[in-house]
Amino acid sequence: MTQNTVVRFAPSPTGYLHIGNARTALFNALFALKHHGQFVLRLDDTDTVRSKEEFAEAIKQDLQWLGIGIDRLEKQSARLERYNEVAEKLKAEGRLYPCYETAEELDYKRKRQAARGQPPIYDRTGLHQSQAEREKLESEGRKPHWRFKLDGKSVIWNDLCRGDQSVDTSSQSDPVLIREDGSYLYTLPSIIDDIDFGVTHVIRGEDHVSNTGTQIEIFETLGAKPPVFGHHNLLTTADGEGLSKRKGALSLKSLRESGLEPMAAASLATLVGTSHAVQPVASLKTLAELFDLDSVSRAPAKFDPSELNTLNAKLVHDMPFKDVAERLSAFGIDADETFWDAIRGNIEKLSDALMWWQIIQGPIEPVIDEDDKDYIMTAKDNLPSDHWNEETWGIWTGILKEKTGRKGKKLFMPLRKALTGLSYGPEMPVILKRIGRQEALARLSG
Ligand code: GLU
Repeated sequence: MTQNTVVRFAPSPTGYLHIGNARTALFNALFALKHHGQFVLRLDDTDTVRSKEEFAEAIKQDLQWLGIGIDRLEKQSARLERYNEVAEKLKAEGRLYPCYETAEELDYKRKRQAARGQPPIYDRTGLHQSQAEREKLESEGRKPHWRFKLDGKSVIWNDLCRGDQSVDTSSQSDPVLIREDGSYLYTLPSIIDDIDFGVTHVIRGEDHVSNTGTQIEIFETLGAKPPVFGHHNLLTTADGEGLSKRKGALSLKSLRESGLEPMAAASLATLVGTSHAVQPVASLKTLAELFDLDSVSRAPAKFDPSELNTLNAKLVHDMPFKDVAERLSAFGIDADETFWDAIRGNIEKLSDALMWWQIIQGPIEPVIDEDDKDYIMTAKDNLPSDHWNEETWGIWTGILKEKTGRKGKKLFMPLRKALTGLSYGPEMPVILKRIGRQEALARLSG
């Protein structure tokens, strides 16, 4: 398995990806990483009305943001000729047959079956019609949709997430592969692509489990070895509702634009609903080493967006300066390692660094309480004048301690408030050094 592993992520570009879609993308990407395989992005854009270039672009950017490299990019809309070629072959073999029922007629049949206590399986009227009957229907202006003739047998597969699975296709209707207007439903193009692109593993949401039996039959009919399947549980909102593009579930685009760390999204999307603890993981590589598809739970997993912030803060706190230097300077922060080390424990998002930078740069509104006025005056008079460095704070507060008898919070807090305008924040030695003597004097003067 180590050599030729090929996986694909196959979204339709009809909306922005949400965190549940990210889960599918990541499971594929991590699997490819682990097995040194290839990751194919396949845009299922045969629905020309709802597919939009804008969404396709956002999907690519989302994957890039998550750190997922695309080894191959394919668009179904560019492959219609190939699908037609295979469809013609299946028609010639009698595996794809025309059906002329309207939606109302099919609905009526199902209702009649229900009334008789029969399962709603298509009765194959179309399969048994003669050429003359078909021609007559066409002359009345009817156009066929096309169904795949199932063998009707027990199809088994060993699912990477769910273990042994079996589906009896004799309990299923022959699936419609081509609509009346000649457009393809998702099934046939997907299978043809999986075959043509050498996809070895299909990892997707469990909403596709029920399609897998018929899909395996179609793979076999086309003379191909079916890929290995893995169907993972789905993410739901806190009240158990499915995430959906159409309902505007939190999009990856909005997360990325909000300045979230991609690994916060990736860690949560991957680890929630598995036997692993949800924890911040710093890279996809580490996540790939940690994670296995058989650790995915069977039950749907509740996803709490507020966990993203907690994970994000933990990731940011652990980031070394070299990993953030460029991004900080893009925010206009002229940071060095000591600045970063001083503030990183105080921020949730990297962009919060800007707030501390602005506090250092000023202007700020110093806060000097009435009963600290004399103390701050003394502090100002005793501000060391030379060797302005990170030891200055210690030397200064040492002098003040001796002169005023203040200690602990009473010694430090008034200084912090006068110098930063806030009663909390990073370690003062670095802040004071960064503020500089002149500005410190000004702030102590109110
Ligand atoms: N376009 C399909 C979907 O998003 C792909 C399903 C599959 O992975 O086979 O549901």
